[in-house]
Amino acid sequence: MTKTAVTATIDFKAEGRNIGDLRVPWSDNSCPLGFHPVPVISLKNGDGPVVLMCAGTHGDEFEGPAALMRLVADLRLDQLQGQVIILPALNFAALKASARVSPLDNVNLNRAFPGDPRGSITEQIAFYVESELLPLADAAVDLHSGGKASVFATCTLATQTKDRALFEKNLELANVFGLPLIWVLTGLNDPRSLNSAAARCGVPAIATELGGGGGVDPDITNATERGLYSIFCHLGMLNGAPTPALNPKRVASKSLDHSLFATGEGIFDRGVNAGQSVKAGQVAGRFHYICEPERGAETLHFKYDGFVLAHSNRGFVQRGDALVLVVQDH
Ligand SMILES: [Zn+2]
Repeated sequence: MTKTAVTATIDFKAEGRNIGDLRVPWSDNSCPLGFHPVPVISLKNGDGPVVLMCAGTHGDEFEGPAALMRLVADLRLDQLQGQVIILPALNFAALKASARVSPLDNVNLNRAFPGDPRGSITEQIAFYVESELLPLADAAVDLHSGGKASVFATCTLATQTKDRALFEKNLELANVFGLPLIWVLTGLNDPRSLNSAAARCGVPAIATELGGGGGVDPDITNATERGLYSIFCHLGMLNGAPTPALNPKRVASKSLDHSLFATGEGIFDRGVNAGQSVKAGQVAGRFHYICEPERGAETLHFKYDGFVLAHSNRGFVQRGDALVLVVQDH
């Protein structure tokens, strides 16, 4: 099997606080002879569990990177047992551009797994994570938010794997993270996501969707930081009791037919919010065909009872864009 061309400037076996880069070889106009860096931090104190924590997989989602940088600044190494490997800006070029996908190759990192060691820069990052980093880990966390494009009801994601024991561990981690909503990724999960990569490696993992809008919401970032510390306590890496959610709501997407997608170009005049329960027949909003003003406004209705997990945060939408993601209790 072809090995990765990505190298790390830090030794993941080394004790202590080590901060450096992944070096991704990719020659372009911005960097013809060097490498593209991806920041990486290893905090290691003795033997114990190894946790991989990533954010910035999409570059316009900032609560996760902020929470991970708080860890880098504040986590006391002498109080830690084990190792945390932190990649606060996994798709660094995308994060610097405040963009969902990398401006260097236009690839969506969370649709690039298992990656390609000879592929584009984003495909190389995905390959390195799945072939080099996930095999080191006893647990993995990938922090997403709605970004500029979407607004989510703040939730933790757990993949429903064929391996029942792994699914239980994913659910346990999601519960420990402490957010009041858990989105169970069933058959509709994308095999090209980091969550799926973790499942292929047999590593218990969660992801998050932390609100949205493309900024840094203080309440959500605080809750994310609490969740990360709760995981450390749960795994015995820090002293203290974990702070799981009390009776979190569990939802799953039964069918894409429950959600609403744009059938043309225009403005979605949204009538509901993320985190709201809805009934079949209820008005979801109106759609304004602003390019064809003679068409007037179309009223959109929900086809099924459900729960609004997320909605578009875009003004103008294209045919095929998701307007409202509707899920059911799991
Ligand atoms: Zn994302």
